Amino acid sequence: MLIKDRLTISILQKLVETKTIQEIADEYKCSYIYIQKLLKQYKIACPYSSKKNTKTLIGQKYHYLTVISYKGINHRHDVLLNCRCDCGQFTEVKRTNLVNGNTKSCGCLAYEPRPNQTGENHYRWTGYKDIPGYFFTGILKGAQKRRLEFNITVEYIWSILEEQDFKCCLSSVPIGFTKNFRCRRDTTASLDRIDSFQGYIKGNVQWVHKRVNLIKHNMHQDELEYWISHLYETLQPSKISNKIYHTHLWGRRANKS
Ligand SMILES: [Zn+2]
Repeated sequence: MLIKDRLTISILQKLVETKTIQEIADEYKCSYIYIQKLLKQYKIACPYSSKKNTKTLIGQKYHYLTVISYKGINHRHDVLLNCRCDCGQFTEVKRTNLVNGNTKSCGCLAYEPRPNQTGENHYRWTGYKDIPGYFFTGILKGAQKRRLEFNITVEYIWSILEEQDFKCCLSSVPIGFTKNFRCRRDTTASLDRIDSFQGYIKGNVQWVHKRVNLIKHNMHQDELEYWISHLYETLQPSKISNKIYHTHLWGRRANKS
C-alpha cells in the first residue's frame, strides 16, 4: 500500500493539528519534502508546525515590535503573530515580514521624523532655517495662480517669524513647522496677508496659526475683531472651557491618539 493512499486528506488534516511535518514524516517513514508536497497538493495548512516554530519567537524584539503570541494562519498559509509596538499599539504581523525586516512597526515609524532624514540633514532639503522648501514654493505657486503680487523672500518671512517670537500674532499661540514632509499636516504656522486685497508684498504679511488663518479667511483684521466680539458675547464666556489646547496635536490624524 502506497503512503499516498494511507495518508488521505481527512487523515492528514487530523494529523496536522497535533504533529509537525517532521513527526508525520517519521511516523510514515517517508521524507519531509514528500509530506510537504502532499500538504500543498491537498491545500492543507499546518498550524501546529507554525505554532511550534513560532514559540521560539515569542518575546523576541524586531525593531519596534515585540512578539506576544501566535495568532493563526491566513488563507495564503502565512503565519500571523500578535505583536506590541513600542508606541503601545497592538498589531498583527506576518512572520516572514517581521523576521526579514519588511515590517518594523505598527505603522507609526513612517510618521516619525528620523533625525538623519529630516530638515537640513535630508539630502534634498531646500528650505531655509525651519521653513521647508515646499512650504515657500506652495505660497509662491498659490500666489502665481491667483495672480497676486509677490516680492517676499524666505529670509524675509523668517525674520518676521523671529520678530513674532514664533507665536501667532493674533492669538499668541506658539506656531511652528514640521520638517518631515510626511507630517506636513502637523505644521501650525501659516502666512497671512494683512490686507487681503494686496498680494504677498513686504509689510503686508504676518504669521498666524493655521486655524486662525482659516477663520480669518479674506477678512480684514477689523472685520475679524467685529465677528469675534459678537461670537464671544453670544457663546457665553462661562461655557468656553479654559482647557489648555495641545497645539501640537492640532490638525493631526484623528486615529492617532
Ligand atoms: Zn507603533
